[in-house]
Amino acid sequence: MVSKRNPDELLKFIPARDSPPYTLVVVYGERSIGDFWTFPDDGTVERVLGAIAKVMPSILTLDDVKRYLESLDKPSERVNRALEAYQSLVKLREVRPGEGLPYKYEPPHLPGWKDMMIGGAIPGLKPNQRNPYFTGGTAKHYRPVINFDKCIKCSLCWEYCPDSVFDVTPDGYFNPALAYCKGCGVCAEVCPVPDTIIMVDEMEFEDGYGKFIDEYRAWKENREAYRKWFESLLPKAQVISVRKR
Ligand code: SF4
Ligand code: SF4
Repeated sequence: MVSKRNPDELLKFIPARDSPPYTLVVVYGERSIGDFWTFPDDGTVERVLGAIAKVMPSILTLDDVKRYLESLDKPSERVNRALEAYQSLVKLREVRPGEGLPYKYEPPHLPGWKDMMIGGAIPGLKPNQRNPYFTGGTAKHYRPVINFDKCIKCSLCWEYCPDSVFDVTPDGYFNPALAYCKGCGVCAEVCPVPDTIIMVDEMEFEDGYGKFIDEYRAWKENREAYRKWFESLLPKAQVISVRKR
């Protein structure tokens, strides 16, 4: 992993596994904003290759890494990044079975052909209904936090979210179902009211996978407490410009 956090902090966000033990390797550095769809070419690949050469030279030596990176564009920049990671403090942490975020993976039930609808059709979901197997796991880096007090109910976040994360509330607000969010930042970018959707580092939150806060409910239950919570997060908001990617 590339992170400025130490391995123990990171383990709070990594799902626990039953077996076997493994080694968590943390390379100090700014983590990538790359995700399922984008490759920002921000040096993460080079740094990870440099770290592998350092901790597991039996798999990849530094010469192998250099040879590969020199075959790409911007070779000296890439090699320097790998060297930085190779020479920097790489933290190792043995992770025992069961250590990490409690998270039970439920394999989906795959229907046989006799269970399927005619033509292999897949029934559509009703509004606000969700497929429990299509969650984003612990993958997102940032999460949207909504300031419902400022929302003008324009619906742009709901329309533009590539993962249909927003549920429509009975009074016309748009509430992110955070288990399905990938943290892309599109909603924050299209929202026309400044500081109404902010993107905050996922590691600022302790609610963990499967127990995400319901932002709309929290706001309805105690608007004053929600406002204070939102304001405490405002200085930590990140601008994730999708258009610049
Ligand atoms: S960051 Fe916003 S637009 Fe992107 S997946 Fe999450 S809710 Fe949807
Ligand atoms: S885009 Fe912003 S203002 Fe529009 S509905 Fe979503 S949160 Fe509200």
